[in-house]
Amino acid sequence: MRALSVHADLIVFISRFWQTTCTAVRSGDEGFVIDSPVYPDELSAVPDVLEQAGFPVSGLLATHADWDHLLGRIAFPEASLGCGDSTARRLAAEPGDAQRKLRDFDEEHYVDDRRPLTLGGVQSLPVPGRLALGAGNRELELHPADGHTADGTAFYVPWVDVLICGDYLSPVEIPWISPDGSAETYLATLARLRALVDRAETIVPGHGRPLNRSEAAALLEEDVAYLNALIDQGEAATLPPGRRTGAQRRIHEQNVATRRPS
Ligand SMILES: [Zn+2]
Repeated sequence: MRALSVHADLIVFISRFWQTTCTAVRSGDEGFVIDSPVYPDELSAVPDVLEQAGFPVSGLLATHADWDHLLGRIAFPEASLGCGDSTARRLAAEPGDAQRKLRDFDEEHYVDDRRPLTLGGVQSLPVPGRLALGAGNRELELHPADGHTADGTAFYVPWVDVLICGDYLSPVEIPWISPDGSAETYLATLARLRALVDRAETIVPGHGRPLNRSEAAALLEEDVAYLNALIDQGEAATLPPGRRTGAQRRIHEQNVATRRPS
């Protein structure tokens, strides 16, 4: 796992698995941790790094309900977990699903030292909306970000000008349309994110390293082009340059299958 100090008040952790990101943001004597790394050793390192850096943890947040973003409670078992209302609804509708997928992952990757994941008492936050952090009227902005899945929230942190967008604008992964997501809503989210990217100094995607504004803007246009091609041409759509590996081709095949009427 890598830990990057993006700003005096913001640290990004990048997991060895899928380059899943975890972002700690601080405001005075309060702080949030958004999403999570994946492996047990990474999850146990996060509290140590944050303590050394003087980052308090007042609560956990998640961009969406996919299991790889929900593991914060393993690192901070006592912490509250908040998420956008669409994600809270999805978690309530799929009880035990994240734990099942985590168990499948651990079996596949021979992980046998996992602490249990509890997802009870999730706090549902209105989106669009704002969330206060620390003194001085500082507020995180919550923006809807669905399409990758049926749920999703992007967090904008105005005092550091950082956008934490969940599974969009990834330098390592093409747009991935889950069975309950859609290319059309994904495009609508990208249109909303465009204005946020224009304001941001740094963009933290759900997978991959933090980006500067021009890198994220270029990825956004590549993703729009890919999704329009997916809608118009299906399987024949060209993948974005730099994201044409075997793994990305398999995601593309899944996207094509998801769009095919069954
Ligand atoms: Zn993800």
